Amino acid sequence: MKAVCWHGANDVRVDNVPDPTLLNPRDAILKVTATTICGSDLHIYDGYIPSMQPGDIIGHEFMGEIVETGREVRKLKKGDRVVVSSIIGCGQCHYCSHHQWSLCDNSNPNGALQEPIFGFGTAGIFGYSHLFGGYAGSQAQYVRIPFADHGCIKVPDGMTDEQALPISDAFPTGYMGADMCDIKPGDVVAVWGCGPVGLFAIKSAYLLGAEKVIAIDRFPERLLMAKTQCNAEVINYEEVDAGDALKEMTGGRGPDACIDAVGLESHGTGVMGFYDEVKQSVRLETDRPHVLRQMIVACKKGGVISVMGVYAGFVDKMPMGAAFNKGLTFKMGQMHGQRYMPKLIDHVLKGEIDPAFVFSHHMPLTEAKQAYEMFKHKTDKCIKVLLKP
Ligand SMILES: [Zn+2]
Ligand SMILES: [Zn+2]
Repeated sequence: MKAVCWHGANDVRVDNVPDPTLLNPRDAILKVTATTICGSDLHIYDGYIPSMQPGDIIGHEFMGEIVETGREVRKLKKGDRVVVSSIIGCGQCHYCSHHQWSLCDNSNPNGALQEPIFGFGTAGIFGYSHLFGGYAGSQAQYVRIPFADHGCIKVPDGMTDEQALPISDAFPTGYMGADMCDIKPGDVVAVWGCGPVGLFAIKSAYLLGAEKVIAIDRFPERLLMAKTQCNAEVINYEEVDAGDALKEMTGGRGPDACIDAVGLESHGTGVMGFYDEVKQSVRLETDRPHVLRQMIVACKKGGVISVMGVYAGFVDKMPMGAAFNKGLTFKMGQMHGQRYMPKLIDHVLKGEIDPAFVFSHHMPLTEAKQAYEMFKHKTDKCIKVLLKP
């Protein structure tokens, strides 16, 4: 089959690789009908995710048709059209049974590699390095799905691929970001980053009852999308000071909750921005926490900091004094896909949201190299690319 393989920083290739086979009785094999590049794939593309090996198949946001099932798969059969959670959960451990699927104890065979840094191993993720299980990714014609009964959610008739595909990863990630804000009537939520996850976080915050959502980015086309498609008020942080603007737009109080939909490659300005660039480039810090710092300072006293952008290692110069003295609540984590996916399908069926809005481009999988470059550099007003195997 054809698959998108990582060969080093800024080097992905469409290679011919062996088809996947069933390895475990609870596996299924999926024929991928649509997959896409996630913002977090760019951290791999840029070379910031450790334990990648040349030839690894990448990608974790996908849907398709079941073509084969292991003998212990109960809920799925050949021909089922499903969308698959990017996070792999066993469905039986302490964490899965508490719907904390991304913390699964059993789905990451390399969890021990995480223990020296994280203390405990976390769940496996499709196509997201050997630290996260070394699973082959979804930017391919076929994928093996471990614990298939739990990861695959059937797509109702009438829902298009464009509507179902984001339910694999970007939509539940944005939704969880908003869910963690514990939104109450009248709340103002600020969202940093207007990529696909940020846009879904904006829409989800409104679905969950926010009065107003303010979005922060620097790309005019993304800000326009946040404004016109998602009804957000917007701030271009290259034109104005985001902290000052937020204060002004919230009557001097600051947002009730702040969502980080950017993660470890955020772009700082001024001295601190330069400091992060230098420290990260010589690997003295792994992650650039500019957005986090700004959120902590901008958030209202007693507010919520919700982090959905990916962090991998260590950050520097965190304003802990501000966070502590302002009494902020921090919530974060990889998304618990299986907890949210059925609910999100309901929202789509009721016509409350149409996730298809996020795709600006459709391309064949064979053009993945160009798609990565376009998505990384946001050329041709690219928001998100649907790849057809
Ligand atoms: Zn993702
Ligand atoms: Zn589990």
